Amino acid sequence: MNEPQRITARELREMGFPIPAEVPDCAVVPVGAIRAADVKVKPSPEDVAEGKITANVTFAIDAPFEWVEVDLPVPEGVDPDVFARDLLEAAETAKFAHDLVKHDRCVTSHCPICDGGLAVCRVCGGAEGSLPTHCPGRRMTREEDQDVLHARRDFRAGKWADGSNRP
Ligand SMILES: [Zn+2]
Ligand SMILES: [Zn+2]
Repeated sequence: MNEPQRITARELREMGFPIPAEVPDCAVVPVGAIRAADVKVKPSPEDVAEGKITANVTFAIDAPFEWVEVDLPVPEGVDPDVFARDLLEAAETAKFAHDLVKHDRCVTSHCPICDGGLAVCRVCGGAEGSLPTHCPGRRMTREEDQDVLHARRDFRAGKWADGSNRP
């Protein structure tokens, strides 16, 4: 049987390794990343008499855990390349999406967000015309907000860009 090349956090926990609680059981590390960091050999007189040696070994992990490992079945009749590209696109879109303000139980009688359908991002502060294509991930300065509103700039795919050719 082949040696397993990867080991999960659950297996390490079962072996008594102190794996931080935030690492889920399914997280994996390559076996090669585990090394003996500290080896203390302290043979006691009894050990020596019995012809054995007791060693205390502390292990360290050199590589970060990979937290997610998912096998996604390609839907029937779909080109795997197209599927992979669509997935990546969806992931990118989600990464750059605005976090739009939504009111759960709105008590205002005329709410611009609920009644007027006003889109306001709680992260960048953009609203309607001043919402860039993608979210910059931080509050826009007053200048950036005005530049987006007047199509002087836009935020797309992780960077600021010219706003005049905004899609
Ligand atoms: Zn509302
Ligand atoms: Zn935003």
